[in-house]
Amino acid sequence: MARKKIIKAERTKKLEKEMLTCTLCGFCKSVCPYFEDNQWDPSAARGKVILAYGLSRGEISADASVVERLYQCTTCKDCERRCPSNIRVVEIIEAARADLVEAGCALPAHKRIVKNIKETKNPYGETRAVDLGAEVKPAEIGYFVGCTARYRMPEVAKHTISILRKMGVDFTLVDEVCCGSTLKRTGQDERLIKELMKANVEAVTRLGVKKLIFTCAGCLKMFREEYPKHVAVDFETEHLVEFLAKKDLKLRPLKKRITYHDPCHIGRHLKIYDAPRKVIRMMPEATFVEMKENMESARCCGGGGGVRSADPPAAQRIASRRVRSASEVADLLLTACPFCVTNLRYGNEMIKVDIEIRDIAEVVDDLIIT
Ligand code: SF4
Ligand code: SF4
Repeated sequence: MARKKIIKAERTKKLEKEMLTCTLCGFCKSVCPYFEDNQWDPSAARGKVILAYGLSRGEISADASVVERLYQCTTCKDCERRCPSNIRVVEIIEAARADLVEAGCALPAHKRIVKNIKETKNPYGETRAVDLGAEVKPAEIGYFVGCTARYRMPEVAKHTISILRKMGVDFTLVDEVCCGSTLKRTGQDERLIKELMKANVEAVTRLGVKKLIFTCAGCLKMFREEYPKHVAVDFETEHLVEFLAKKDLKLRPLKKRITYHDPCHIGRHLKIYDAPRKVIRMMPEATFVEMKENMESARCCGGGGGVRSADPPAAQRIASRRVRSASEVADLLLTACPFCVTNLRYGNEMIKVDIEIRDIAEVVDDLIIT
């Protein structure tokens, strides 16, 4: 018989008391995208809390099925909204993941990402330089592109640069490295995450940037919530939609029924709900319609928390449900994160409903009148 792998679980131990307040009410099951996907109780928030508790008490072994379940979480935070005990499920899951990684239980897909970041400073392992047509120079406004926009959706970066130029903003790109989001969400080595934080903050500060603009939800959450715990962030951070919502944009008409997908990491995590809607409402002749589940109750796109890399079929199925909901009310689905765009499009490859899926930066740039 295989020996039990009991792990130290030091981080999870600190959250034991909180885990004990779970009444097993099951409210979290009604919203967890992973439970919706596989209808398997250990994959719902409460199941993962029980597994984390068992690991922490040394009562269950870190076997492959336990590790698999604890990585079945997109860190969407929807369970926390429903939890009557106010349990910080995401924090518990991320702590358990960090304990698992320390005990040598990292998933192969995430090990590859760590290796890529160590070697190339981006999770995709890209070594090529991408020319976005803008320079790095001293300026008060900076644009942090993020690895997904740079290497997988450069159109988002190029449209953002174009918007800033059309608005006459004096801005700079940054000599950036990966923001560390995937590493943090999947529980990887904290020293590596801090190295990335330090490198990014130094690169921004060097240029005299006072306000740093983001188009990626995961990057912004890192800079706003995680960075200040470890490094001094002496500049303002804003998502592009927050920046644009304060301006009086002159846009060309767009005769479409538009709906908006709230990326979890700027929605439930950072509560940026009004700004993107304000920008969409500046589009003349567009009809804005909400999906049934919107703002704090928005369903997840399925890609976050390391799920897209470790479990692509689940990421695709979860995304397909969100796209189907959007297609029932609109013909254009906008969101404010390139990672969400790529995963939602991936979801639509499965169901092929008739809907356009775009980042809000792309559409604003197409419509802006200079
Ligand atoms: S909603 Fe909260 S208290 Fe209820 S089962 Fe889920 S984690 Fe436990
Ligand atoms: S954060 Fe989202 S995916 Fe993770 S357990 Fe909660 S509802 Fe499920």
